[in-house]
Amino acid sequence: MTNMHDILAKQKQYVLKEGSPSNALRIDRLNRMKELILEYRYKFVDALNEDFGVRSKNQSMITDAYSIIPNIEYAKKNLKSWTAKSKRKTSFPFNILGAKSYVEYEPLGVVGMISPWNFPVNLTFSPLIAVFAAGNVVMHKPSEYTENTSSLLKEACDKYYDETEFATVLGGPDVGAEFSSLKFDHLLYTGSGAVGKHIMQAAAKNLVPVTLELGGKSPVIVGESADLKSTARRVMMGKTMNAGQICLAPDYVIVKDNLESALVTELKETVKEYYPDIKHNPDYTSIINQKHFDRINSLIQDAREKGATIDEINPANEDFSQQEAYKIPPTLVMNPTDDMAVMQEEIFGPVLPIKRYSHIDETIEYVNSKDKPLGLYYFGSNKEEENKVLSKTTSGGVTVNNVIGHLQQSDLPFGGVGPSGIGRYNGIEGFLNFSNARAIYKEVSPRFEKLFGFMRPPYKQDVEATLKKLIK
Ligand code: NAD
Repeated sequence: MTNMHDILAKQKQYVLKEGSPSNALRIDRLNRMKELILEYRYKFVDALNEDFGVRSKNQSMITDAYSIIPNIEYAKKNLKSWTAKSKRKTSFPFNILGAKSYVEYEPLGVVGMISPWNFPVNLTFSPLIAVFAAGNVVMHKPSEYTENTSSLLKEACDKYYDETEFATVLGGPDVGAEFSSLKFDHLLYTGSGAVGKHIMQAAAKNLVPVTLELGGKSPVIVGESADLKSTARRVMMGKTMNAGQICLAPDYVIVKDNLESALVTELKETVKEYYPDIKHNPDYTSIINQKHFDRINSLIQDAREKGATIDEINPANEDFSQQEAYKIPPTLVMNPTDDMAVMQEEIFGPVLPIKRYSHIDETIEYVNSKDKPLGLYYFGSNKEEENKVLSKTTSGGVTVNNVIGHLQQSDLPFGGVGPSGIGRYNGIEGFLNFSNARAIYKEVSPRFEKLFGFMRPPYKQDVEATLKKLIK
């Protein structure tokens, strides 16, 4: 097996020799990505199902195959304008003397990429679109939790790309630790904030710039003007898709007090409609492994012990104590308090705490008392209230009247802020994130040399008098 240091050396050599790739080559790399996804889609779907125990094949076909393609097409369509030289204003007096200023967007070089298990295919290729559009090559380490999918990703990428363009390294945390200590030109990590801290520390040793796509507790604020039926349907879609194992999943709900019971009724009705039964339903995804199954159950247990009412939504009244997979039915946590772990940690599972508020300002105060989230969701038709919530809080992104929706927009940048992440992909911001905006200045002709004499030693005149004239 080739060692990761050798691969990096080979890729660096390739980048130096080839220079910035043409748009045609970038488009070719993007086209090969699309072909690869289409060729391997059924195999990916099966591998994901095997890795999770149960992973809805319909969902996988959406999230880990077809949803990537519009972003590939969008990048191809915009590549010419993104990569074009950007003319800039030259400052006075250099402008009137014929000097020129512009920006050229260069590739960074070799990008290291560490991806997680929850959407292994999507979270490999979605960020890679921006990485390739910007002209970089990549070295990838997928998650050890999804062994079958990660091996299949390696097989597929080795088939479609030369090792100098895209290389895959398999392994767990120790391989990840060694990988993140490599002297990449940029390191992109998607995963938990806890591991994100190790990644940033390892990268800092070599001053490698990072993009960190992390998670957090994305709140859902349900205003008094919200349509409760559609709110419930949309929130539950986001909470039960992939069994809530989504970085942008609605983590908890804060609802106007007089609407709480009606919303809960709608949430339960929705689950019954989406999943009349759960235990053997192939569209209800399992928790990835015993470790996460135990973690989520202990969140529920801790909340119960501290006084919350636990409302498990189990439409067919099934017994989950004996099962082949690690399924946890959608579970509401009523009357949650801040001393409960479920209100402190990212849930990353199908558990939904429901909090009440009496005045909208309380929701703003609550959200602002926590780490800046990856997503924020407001439901309602009151524009004034919406503006207040949006302008007085911050988050990586916002979806109004739905959850997760901003991620599906090819032209919107995706990423977090502060503890929910650094950097963006998708849209032009993704291209810029993986480019070096190189400032280029072309100086005035030598025939104007004398004009600058006053600024050079030995200083002869009153320099400040001339400088004052120039800033007028
Ligand atoms: P994780 O942090 O456990 O692992 C992610 C990757 O890091 C894996 O490939 C793993 O092998 C590697 N890794 C583990 N320890 C390492 C170390 N010490 N050094 C280097 N690499 C190491 O994350 P996860 O559990 O796979 O994913 C869940 C988390 O990811 C959640 O917090 C979720 O919100 C977040 N997430 C964020 C996004 C996003 O786009 N913002 C997307 C999906 C998941």
